[in-house]
Amino acid sequence: MRKVSITGGKGGTGKSTVAVNLAILLSRDRDVVLGDLDVEAPNDHILLGVELENESPVHVMMPFIDYERCTKCGACGRVCDTGAIMAPVGKPPFVFPRLCSGCRACFFACPEKAILEGRRILGSTYSTPVPHGGGFRLVTGMLREGEEHSSPVVLAARKRADEEARDLLLVDTAAGTGNNVSIAITGSDLILAVTEPTPLGAHDLSMILELTGEMGLETWVVLNKAGIGSEDLIRSIAEEHGSRIVERIPYSREVVNSYISSRPIALGDSRASAPYRRIAELLGGVV
Ligand code: SF4
Ligand code: SF4
Repeated sequence: MRKVSITGGKGGTGKSTVAVNLAILLSRDRDVVLGDLDVEAPNDHILLGVELENESPVHVMMPFIDYERCTKCGACGRVCDTGAIMAPVGKPPFVFPRLCSGCRACFFACPEKAILEGRRILGSTYSTPVPHGGGFRLVTGMLREGEEHSSPVVLAARKRADEEARDLLLVDTAAGTGNNVSIAITGSDLILAVTEPTPLGAHDLSMILELTGEMGLETWVVLNKAGIGSEDLIRSIAEEHGSRIVERIPYSREVVNSYISSRPIALGDSRASAPYRRIAELLGGVV
């Protein structure tokens, strides 16, 4: 199984548009799974115009205090690095569920075995058949609204996508270079870094190339909204990091309309779909 991750800077750079269009094009010849691991704002299903199916909840451990056993020693509060347990010595501890990552440190630290392991739902994963192209599966991770700790949902969605992928796994990551992006791109054969020719795009691209360089992952740059600004800086940043711009996607009203209408551009054969076809061809030659 081969894995290509599509990542990018701040929201709106077009990485999800690239991901869904590549999934459609490549699924015509390949067995494709698309993993939407942007769990705080998954939108591939919206771009593809499909309803999410086959929900599976993602649970994490949730501590419950047995106040009859608790001696109010405060040890649980001292080991909790997210502030999810307030436990002043001499006072009964209090748990803030939304801050809890389910790491179990308090459970192991309690000398009285006064912490019981409950569980709660942090989010869900989904596996949805998509009829476009040759047909493929979309695996989506979605964090529950208001939750703080998204990494367990990214891990669960990555695991489900890994299990379902046989031939080619495309992964749409969160924006930026945080922990969730590192989790999502781990094990990739190739990264596509989508950026735009703006100072912010250049800054974000530099961070992404540093991260993928540290992880030893080959990275290609896809320049989206080409023509709206200077491309020299993007080109020099890419070259500085041993990368290159493999495709320029011009700004197009047609692509914006495809986004609004949930009808990906690759479903037609207009001029605006040509850059996506060229990227798919390039990918087909290496993965
Ligand atoms: S499970 Fe971890 S994060 Fe949650 S309360 Fe215990 S120590 Fe804190
Ligand atoms: S570590 Fe155990 S005994 Fe100590 S305050 Fe926490 S729950 Fe109570």
